[in-house]
Formats: sequence, structure tokens, C-alpha cells
Amino acid sequence: MIHALRGTRDILPGEVERWQHVERVARALCERYGYVEVRTPIIEREELFVKGTGAATDIVHKEMYSFTDKGGDRVTLRPEATPSMVRAYVEHTLEQTLAAAKIYAMGPMFRYERPQKGRYRQFHQLDVEVFGLNDPAIDAEVIDVAWTLIEELGIRHADLVINSVGCRECRPVFMKALVEALGDDVSKLCSDCQRRATINPLRIYDCKVPADQPIIDRLPHAIDYLCEACRTHFAGVQAQLDAWNIPWRISHRLVRGLDYYTRTTFEILGATASDGGDEGETLGAQNALLGGGRYDGLVKDLGGPDRPGIGFAAGMERLVLALPHDVVAAVKPSAVVVAIGEDARADGLRLLRELRRAGCIAHMEVEARSLRAQMKRADRVQARFTLIIGGDELAKGEVTVRNMATGEQTAVARKAVVAHVRQQLA
Ligand SMILES: [Zn+2]
Ligand SMILES: [Zn+2]
Repeated sequence: MIHALRGTRDILPGEVERWQHVERVARALCERYGYVEVRTPIIEREELFVKGTGAATDIVHKEMYSFTDKGGDRVTLRPEATPSMVRAYVEHTLEQTLAAAKIYAMGPMFRYERPQKGRYRQFHQLDVEVFGLNDPAIDAEVIDVAWTLIEELGIRHADLVINSVGCRECRPVFMKALVEALGDDVSKLCSDCQRRATINPLRIYDCKVPADQPIIDRLPHAIDYLCEACRTHFAGVQAQLDAWNIPWRISHRLVRGLDYYTRTTFEILGATASDGGDEGETLGAQNALLGGGRYDGLVKDLGGPDRPGIGFAAGMERLVLALPHDVVAAVKPSAVVVAIGEDARADGLRLLRELRRAGCIAHMEVEARSLRAQMKRADRVQARFTLIIGGDELAKGEVTVRNMATGEQTAVARKAVVAHVRQQLA
């Protein structure tokens, strides 16, 4: 017996319907907001993520599935979608071919992490990106897509947190203040934070180690160091969110772990059944269902034109977990054909196909012979109607239609039975 790889899993019937629901809602929402789908390969040059995600991030540093292929190229299973989306946008000059450079994607990502409850090495994300637009209303629109997604999925008790991490002008000032504020306290922090202090001090804000919290609470806030342009931009984002009645609060800790963020960052937090415990993606007792921000230098860094960008990635596993339990019902057949005897069986198989081609979800227990076994099966799959064909029915050119909820039986002409069932279902 060969098992699935550690950190990977099968999504089986009973759960897959919840995935399909999330995918359906997300797709319809993206389309309404003018986003078009782009499907990028799951495998890319390693360089794309080293440059795009950032060499100093934990992702690139220790979590990438990278290997040398048979041609000698260093390749990576994508750990996040944004660099691939930027690459596709640049490579195909999408700003010229699309009406608006607003794109989305859904699919698996790969990170080699220690597997734990609710965390997988193959996980899935919805990714939404906008290129070429600077206006704060665009930041607010991207946040609106995220917020509306959570609302339309019926996820309650979600919180939107926002922050601004500044631009390439003012961020270094903040970083300097941060390093100064840390000072000698670095040696009192956990070993992870000590490592972060040298390679990416912003990540210290993500630390969950209780003993570190008093020190982290005293660290400076990015929004106090914003330049005039960044301050105006952030105020514009807040004003637009208010105008749309989207509730938000500022989280000074929301600096996010990736190198490429500029100005607006945001997360939507919600309670999920998973215990989280992953650094950088939980705040308090809530998990980040999704998160994103602006990345105004990334397109240029990856060899493209100097265009701003903003987007977010939502963890599909977390959305599926946070979905209300009763939101998706398993698909039940509308009709089960029950045939008694060889002649009836031949007509039953014909009727089965007619029903399916007319849009009904129809089953027939092809191998079961006894009436009892077939009826039992129809009961088990919770069919709305059972269509019974026996010797009598064949002789009269009829089908007995049994409403499984009421037990009521009606004789319907064979020719009219598909239309009858469809009408009853409508
Ligand atoms: Zn700035
Ligand atoms: Zn720490």
C-alpha cells in the first residue's frame, strides 16, 4: 500500500463540495469586479522566487521545493502566486492586451514546512492582483473584493486589519528607528527573533513567543514614519473603506513577512477550526484567512516596467474550514430508476440516459437484481423520485413515479415521464 506524501492530502467527497462552493463563490465575485483568470505553471525558475519573494524570507530561506531538473536548471514548485502572476503580466505584456490589468488565479502552492494540524506542504490559494494603478481607491477595491468574499461565504466574526509600511523613501527611516529601538533588547528575544534582527527585522513583529511580547509592544509603529505621500495615500484608503462601510482597524504589527510590500498591507482574520500556531500568520486567537498588500517595486524588480501592484492571497484550506457547516449540501440524485426483469432493465437504461441528458441527476442500480435491493439503494442515496419499471408498467407503456418524501405513487405515461420529473423538480 502506497500512502500520500507527508504534508499532502486527498480532498474527498463530503469535503470537496465545500471546496467547490468556495471556488464558485470566488470565481463569480472576481468576475463581477472585472478580474480575469490567469493560470500559470506550478513550476518556475527558482530565481523568480529568490528575486520576487525575497532571499531573506523564511519561504525562500528554508521552505522551497527546489531541485535541479534533468536539463540542469534550478526549478521550484511555486510557494506563492504573486511572482508568477507578475512574470506572466510582464512576459505577455498584459497591460496592453487586457482592458484592465486585474487578474486572479486559484491553485496549489508548495512549501516544505513541518506538517501540523491544518498546515500542508501542498496547500491552495486564491490570488487576486491588480497592476499599474496607484490610486488609494484601488487599494480599497482590492480590500473590498477580499471583504465581500468573506461575507458571501457566510464567514462570521471576521476582522479586517490594515496598516501601511511606507515606500522606498520612508521605509528605511522606519527600519532605522526599529533597529535603534531594539538596541540591546535583541539579546533578550527568542532565537528566531535574533536571527530575524539581522536578516529581516520586520519579521520580529510576527513573533508569538510570550516572553518577547513586552519588548515587541514597545517597538515603533510604521505609520509614525510615513512620508507625506504615503500618509496621504493611507488616509485615502481609510476614507474609501469608510465610504463603503467596510469596518477596519489598524494593526501596527501587520508588516507582513515578505520583502516586497509597500504602503498598504491588510489581513482578514477569522476563527477557524485549525489551531494555527504558525508564525507570522496569526494575530491573537484568530487566524489570517487572507492577506495582502501593495508591492510597488516588484514588477520592476522582476525585469518589467515600473508599474505598481497590489493584491492578496487567501488560504483556501482556511476558507473551507471557516465556512459555516450547513452551507453546502451534498448533491443528491433527483431520480433513481428501478427496473424489474430483463426487458424492464433495457428500457430502464434508456430512461436513465434520457433523464441525464435532460439535466437530471439520475442513478440506476445496474447490477442489483431484486426490487428490494434497488429500493433500498434509492432510499440510501436520498433520491427525490424513484421511477419504477416492471412487467405491468411495460405492458401499459407507463412508469410508476414514487415521491420518496411522501410515499405517493403516480402512474405516468412512459413518453411523458422525463418531462413529468423535470416539472416536479422545478
Ligand atoms: Zn513613503
Ligand atoms: Zn521572538
